[in-house]
This record gives sequence, structure tokens and C-alpha cells, in this order.
Amino acid sequence: MVSVTVYSEDDREYLSDALDLCREYEQLLSKTVEGSDVWRINHAGGTPTEVEPRTAELIETALYYSELSGGAFDITIAPLTALWDFKSDNPSLPKESDIEDALPLVGYRKVELDGNTVTLQDKMEIDLGAIAKGYIADRLSDYFKENGVERALINLGGNIVTVGEKANGKWSIGVQVPFEDRNVIEGVVRTGEGSVVTSGIYERYFKVSDTVYHHILNPETGYPATSDLLSVTVISEKSVDGDALATALFLLGMEEGKQLIESMDGFGAVLISENGEATVAGDVDFARE
Ligand code: ADP
Ligand code: MG
Repeated sequence: MVSVTVYSEDDREYLSDALDLCREYEQLLSKTVEGSDVWRINHAGGTPTEVEPRTAELIETALYYSELSGGAFDITIAPLTALWDFKSDNPSLPKESDIEDALPLVGYRKVELDGNTVTLQDKMEIDLGAIAKGYIADRLSDYFKENGVERALINLGGNIVTVGEKANGKWSIGVQVPFEDRNVIEGVVRTGEGSVVTSGIYERYFKVSDTVYHHILNPETGYPATSDLLSVTVISEKSVDGDALATALFLLGMEEGKQLIESMDGFGAVLISENGEATVAGDVDFARE
């Protein structure tokens, strides 16, 4: 879901331009849109694909976060995500043999990126789902700033980017209590211009005999990652970093996740553990409810 609020006199035009930008990037980065850069990479059958500089740049950033997270974050996860259907009304577990067959196709080190040319091994695929929304939110923010919009709030499915400052102080962005109604919050992140991204397992999951199967997968096992966290909210300047990091921190879990964010300058996080407790790490102004 996309929600954009612009505080400006010409707001209608800005809003339709923002949605056009979303569509433009969907045509470039979606795995399912036939002919998109990502679609062409995934259907190249092992041959090199030339893509737009914007696509190459985003893949480069994604590979950086793979390194940084020790391989937990991995856009070559696609052959595994294809086996899991989190949207079905009647979900079932993938066959173990299918997961075993897909595992050798996963591994970010096998992605060759040379300038704007991307080469995967045959049958490998990439999925930018854990980073693209952040990247696109940044592009909307750039567009608003270039056009003199003084204040805007962008929300691309949980990737929130603010433009400018709130008239009477800082923006307040709620951090939800996992598995509760959307309006039940742990507390509020207060921020100036920048990005607040949440990755959680409570938006897309299914249950089979009381076990929760969610959409963030462990690239080594092919199954939903076991983590001692329910959600991670990352506060950063750019949303592309926040998006990748929110997913990466979830995969790393409380201790390693906390350490990683504290080692990075200008980043902060609110990590919600299994028992629902919020832990604050790094550079963040968080007011508990
Ligand atoms: P959301 O899309 O719900 O906002 P995320 O940013 O955490 O949440 O991205 C989750 C998506 O990323 C999944 O739906 C899947 O497409 C992809 N994904 C799943 N596991 C991984 C992983 N280990 N590394 C990178 N991407 C992943
Ligand atoms: Mg993400």
C-alpha cells in the first residue's frame, strides 16, 4: 500500500507525479512485471543482461548489505520465496525436496555485477523485495525536494520517509505492537527529515499447527528465519539503507542486530523481542507509550 501526503498548494499534481514515479520504478524493479530489468536478469538463462544504471546501483547496494550481514540478507533468495505462498487463503508448506533443489541456486557471491551488466547463473533469480520500497521512497523524497515541496510524508508499505520538519516540532512515527491492531503502539519515534522503516513478521505469515511461517527466509535453510525478534524499526537518513537494514537486523536477531546498528554512524533501531519488549539501539529518539 502506498500513501503520500503533501503539505503544499499544488498538492494534487505532486501526488499524481509521486504515484507515476512508483509505477515507473515498478516497471524497472518488479520481478513479476514482464520486461522489467529484474525480470530480464532472471530470464537471461545465464547470459549477461545490461540494465539501467539505477537498477545496477540498487543491486550493488543490496550486495553491500549481504556482505555486511554475513550473507543473511540475500537478494538471490528468489528461488526460495517462489516456493512459499504467503498470500494464499489456504496455505501449505513447500515440499522439502523443492527447498533442497532451490538452495544451491541461492548465494549473493555468485552475482556478477560489472558496470551496468548483471550475470546470474542459469536458474538463479533475484528479488529486490527487501530493499526496493526504501529505494523508491528515497526517489519520491528527492522529487519533492527538487520541486520545492517543504513538507511531505511518504509511506510505501511500512517504509516511511519524511520531507522537511513538522510545523510544531518533530514528526512522530508509531512503532506497532506486533500481532495487535495497527493502532496499538509500543511507542513513538520522533524524527526530523529522514526514514523510518519497519520489518516485521506479523504482516505476512501463515500458521500450520500453531507454528508461524513468515516471509523473511533464512538463505541457508530455505525456511522462515528463526529470530528472537518480532519486528525491527530502523531510523536512517536514506530509506534504501533502512529497508535493507531492517530486514538484515531481523535476520541477525537481538544481539548481533544491536551490535551492527551501534557500529554504524547516524543509524538507530527499535528492536521488539519475542516477549514484546522494545530495545533501543544507536541513534534514535524513542518515546515509549
Ligand atoms: P516487507 O516487504 O514486508 O516490507 P522486508 O523489507 O523485510 O518486508 O522484505 C521482505 C521480502 O524480502 C520478502 O517478501 C522476500 O521477497 C524478500 N526476502 C525474504 N527473505 C530475504 C532475505 N533473507 N534476504 C533478502 N530478501 C529476502
Ligand atoms: Mg526490508
